[in-house]
Amino acid sequence: MTEKNQTVTVTIENLGVNGEGVATLPDGMKIFVPLTLPGEEADVRVLCVKKTFAFGKALSIRRASRDRVTPACPVFGRCGGCQLQHLAYEKQLEFKRNSVADTLKKVGHLDLAVAETVSSPARYAYRNKIQLPVGVDKDGKNAIGFYRTGSHRIVDIDACPLHGEWATKLIGCVRRYMDAAGLIGYDEFTHHGDIRHIVARESNGRVLICLVTPRKGLPKSDLLIEELKKEFDDFALLCNINTQDTNVILGPQTFAVCDRNVLPVDWQGIETEVCVESFLQVNPFVAYRLYDDVIEAARITSEDYVIDAYSGAGILSARLARAAKHVYGVELCGEASQDAVALAERNGIENLSNYNGDCAMLVPMLIARLRDGSAPGADGPVEGARLAVVLDPPRKGCDAQVLSAVLASAPSRIVYVSCNPATLARDLSLLVPAGYSVRSVVPYDMFPETCHVETLVCLTRKGVS
Ligand code: SAH
Repeated sequence: MTEKNQTVTVTIENLGVNGEGVATLPDGMKIFVPLTLPGEEADVRVLCVKKTFAFGKALSIRRASRDRVTPACPVFGRCGGCQLQHLAYEKQLEFKRNSVADTLKKVGHLDLAVAETVSSPARYAYRNKIQLPVGVDKDGKNAIGFYRTGSHRIVDIDACPLHGEWATKLIGCVRRYMDAAGLIGYDEFTHHGDIRHIVARESNGRVLICLVTPRKGLPKSDLLIEELKKEFDDFALLCNINTQDTNVILGPQTFAVCDRNVLPVDWQGIETEVCVESFLQVNPFVAYRLYDDVIEAARITSEDYVIDAYSGAGILSARLARAAKHVYGVELCGEASQDAVALAERNGIENLSNYNGDCAMLVPMLIARLRDGSAPGADGPVEGARLAVVLDPPRKGCDAQVLSAVLASAPSRIVYVSCNPATLARDLSLLVPAGYSVRSVVPYDMFPETCHVETLVCLTRKGVS
C-alpha cells in the first residue's frame, strides 16, 4: 500500500488534464506528479493518498524527456499561472488536442475526431489582460503576483512572460506607490489592508488600470498617477470598491481616478471601446482566427437569424451580423452589454439586437419570440433551417434551460465555443442524442504555456447537409 511521505521511483505515462504527469504506483494506484513529462523516470514523494489516486512531488528527474525545455519564467513551478512551460510548444499543442478528445470521451461518452490544435502566433506576451492579487507575505511584506496552485498564497513577481512589458512596468509602479504611500496588501483572513487586486487591460499602447480596494477609495492616488506618467503615455486609472468577503475580484462600484474607463480596440475592422468590467478575449492573435472560423463553421448567409448567447462585448456578434440577416446577442454583464450596444451604433450595424440578462431566462424568451415572429427583425416565424445558434459560455458551461430552449427551436446549426472541455462534453452529450451531428471539433491555443484550451465545435441538425 502506498503511504504518505513515501519516496517512489515512477515512470510517467501521460499527462492529466491539468498538465501534470500521471504514473502508476507499484500497488496499481495512479499518481499525479506536476512538472513531469511522459517517458520520464522520476523520484517522487507521495504527498497525499486518496481512495483511488495519489498526489506526488517530483524530487528529481532521473531520466528527462527530450520534449523538456527550459521554462522562460523564474517562478514557473511555484506560480499557479502556468503548467506547461517545461514542455516543447509542439507537444503542448498535441497535449491539448488529446486532452479535448479524452475529456469528450470520458465525460461525454463521445468518440469524436479532434483536429490539430490551432497554434498561437505568440507563445509569450500574448495576454491583453492581467489580474493580480495583492497581499502580504508571511513576513508582512507586500506581495503582488499569482496564487500558488491550489492555494491563496501569493507568489511575488516583478514580471510575467505571458504579458508584455506593460505589465512589468505596471507592477513596478504599484509597488513603488504602495511603498511611498505606506499602503499594505489585503489579507483575506483578517480583511485588513488597502489594495486587494490589480486588474488591467492593454490595447495599442493604452493601459486601463483598475485597483480594487476593500473599503475606501485610493489613498494618495497622486503618487500612483505620478509613477504611471513616468511609464505610460496613455493610461486611465480607476478604483473599484469590493467590500465583500468573496473570490469575485471586482465589486459593484468603479470610479475613474484619472481619465475615463474606456479602452479603444479595433478588431478586424470593428472599432469599439470596452470598459474594465467588460469581456474581451485575452489572446487577440488567436481570437481573430477563432472568429473567422466561427463564421465559416456556422455557414452564415444573409438569410440567417443567429442567436449569439453569452455574447460579451459583442465583437463576435458584430462579425456575425455582417454575414447574417439578424443577430441577437445575450449577455449577463451590464457593462459588457452596454459596450455591445455602443459597438453596434458606432459601426452602423442595424441588424444586431442586444439583450442584457441571464441566458437561462432570456434565451428561452427570445426563442419564443422568434418562433411566433415577434422578435425584432423577424419577417415571420423563425426556427429550424433559418436559425443558427452560437454558444460561448463561461467555464461552467451552458445553463440547462438554454440547451432545452435551443433544442426546441431546432436550429439547423449550433456552434459551441468552449473554454472548458469538461462542461463542453457534458453539454454535447445532451445536444448530440437530441438530433445533432458533430461536424468538427477544433482546439485553439488561446492560452499558451497553460493547461487551458479553447474549443470550437460545429453541430448540424441531422438531415441537414
Ligand atoms: N462571445 C464573447 C465572449 C464570451 S465569454 C466574445 O467572444 O467576446 C462569456 C460571457 O458570458 C462573458 O461575457 C460573461 O459575462 C457572460 N455570461 C456568464 N454567465 C452568463 C449568463 N448566465 N447569461 C448570459 N451571459 C453570461
